[in-house]
Amino acid sequence: KWKTELKEIETVRELYDTIDVEELAKFSDFPLSKRTQDGLRGAGYAIPTDIQRAAIPLALRGRDVLGAAKTGSGKTLAFLVPVLELLWAERWSPDDGVGALIVSPTRELAYQTFEVLRRVGVKHDLSAGLVIGGKSLQSEQEAIERTNIVVCTPGRLLQHMDETVNFHCSSLKLLVLDEADRILDLGFQATVNAIVENLPAERQTLLFSATQTKSVRDLARLSLQDPEYVAVHQNS
Ligand code: ADP
Ligand code: MG
Repeated sequence: KWKTELKEIETVRELYDTIDVEELAKFSDFPLSKRTQDGLRGAGYAIPTDIQRAAIPLALRGRDVLGAAKTGSGKTLAFLVPVLELLWAERWSPDDGVGALIVSPTRELAYQTFEVLRRVGVKHDLSAGLVIGGKSLQSEQEAIERTNIVVCTPGRLLQHMDETVNFHCSSLKLLVLDEADRILDLGFQATVNAIVENLPAERQTLLFSATQTKSVRDLARLSLQDPEYVAVHQNS
């Protein structure tokens, strides 16, 4: 079975370079793993939104992406699909530790993202965990070591980086900063800077925001490398 999957990874990856965005009417038109296609279908997602259509192909090709689109435009799947596909294509397993970090401004938003990840990622053999406080630090510490996709709030993540002995992000592949404008509004700029300093320089970073402010651009300058800018405007 794993031979079939290796073949599938090869086939899907070869398609990344020739994606024609004009032809992406449905999620089934995207070069995605069967696991993700099944997850999307099972969760009821058939037609991508504009930000998803624009950002996913760039992220699949390994580019850093700065995505701006208003609230409700579907930014969550614009980064969750690339997260799942990257770790799938890398054949990531629970033993490989943290491969992707998704930083959200609040517990509620982290929880919502985690729930979408659980549904869309249900067919993958990846572990996902919420690191948002509210539980004891110790219970999070025990789980975090074997978590592949960490969905977190900035303060709690930095606390683990400082205090959890076996937690390290040295093999991290992908950082997502979601709702970056709200992260900054809530005063987490220094916390996020400290988090980014703890991460490998060679990684992919996706930053999404409802608004493009100067502070979002400053954060992007610090955390992204040669990003593709994707902005989706009104009525989309
Ligand atoms: P944003 O982060 O941009 O505010 P969300 O990712 O939270 O937006 O999505 C907003 C709503 O749209 C959610 O209820 C989500 O389930 C729904 N949604 C997102 N993408 C799609 C899609 N491709 N098809 C149908 N509904 C979608
Ligand atoms: Mg959102």
